[in-house]
Amino acid sequence: RQAEYAKLVDKPARTVCGTDVSLQINAGLRSDLPQLDTSGADGIGLFRTEFQFLVSATLPRRERQTRLYQSVLEAAGDRPVTFRTVDIGGDKAVPYVSQAGREENPAMGYRALRLALGREGLMKVQARALLDAAAGRTLNVMFPMVSEPWEFDAARALVEEQRRMLGERGRPVPDHVRYGAMFEVPALAEVLPELLERVDFLSVGTNDLFQFLFAADRSHPLLAERYDWLSISALRFLKRIVDAADRAGKPVTVCGEMGGRPLAAMALFALGYRRVSITPAGVGPVKAMVRSLDLQALKPEFDGWLSAGRNMRAALEGWAEMHGVA
Ligand code: PEP
Ligand code: MG
Repeated sequence: RQAEYAKLVDKPARTVCGTDVSLQINAGLRSDLPQLDTSGADGIGLFRTEFQFLVSATLPRRERQTRLYQSVLEAAGDRPVTFRTVDIGGDKAVPYVSQAGREENPAMGYRALRLALGREGLMKVQARALLDAAAGRTLNVMFPMVSEPWEFDAARALVEEQRRMLGERGRPVPDHVRYGAMFEVPALAEVLPELLERVDFLSVGTNDLFQFLFAADRSHPLLAERYDWLSISALRFLKRIVDAADRAGKPVTVCGEMGGRPLAAMALFALGYRRVSITPAGVGPVKAMVRSLDLQALKPEFDGWLSAGRNMRAALEGWAEMHGVA
């Protein structure tokens, strides 16, 4: 099927009924960049900046961070890139960044934005590197594991302060900075209006979100298949997010693994999502699905199954087969 997907590289991700969706890729290293062209993706929806830290024996200096971010933006050209600030800690331990000592539950520990806000020096250096790299263009930056709106405010203020300082020194800065929050912690569902009024965009990290929603370790082999991301609870939860984002007029992307699987992506589009950021290998299969999907026909049926609490995976599989969805 690879040859079939290769033919789709320059074709739009447009459904049979004429709805355009955006397929972007997740990346983290320089070596991922060629996949932007080979996959035919619309941009990089999640650039995992901690990868540079994970493969480095010492803290990457600011100049090295800047050079990496510049090469990402160069490779992307006109296509958008969303940088995520470091998601260190949890399963991504970096030996030279001291954490809180041994943790009983590292995934719920002192990680990601929690660590970054506690290690301001680290965050400031990264902010400077991102601002430098995106001088003269738009910088899209998002923060991982936001758990309360004030954490987003604090992170944004930190980046804004660096931007102001660079400007005062006459250094070139980005034309625009767009700030986003990753939606990975279920508590945010109860403060969606407060969060949405602050952010320029949201990005739903379903890997962590479902880990916390189901209280099930995302890397536990015995639990990997137990809780389905097409379960009623997962899908209703995702619906709340996209409905609220639409009402607030804020763009929302799904950047977890879920979006890279055609059947799950079909569910996301039926819920109302229009942007996914996925593993490069998923772009071909998801685009093939999109181009054979009549979303207008699926939507009312899907809504009916969801409110009736049907087995969503079985219903989606059956519908896809009956309607010849790739
Ligand atoms: C996620 O949690 O879904 C996500 C995209 O971030 P990561 O997989 O890097 O934790
Ligand atoms: Mg995550």
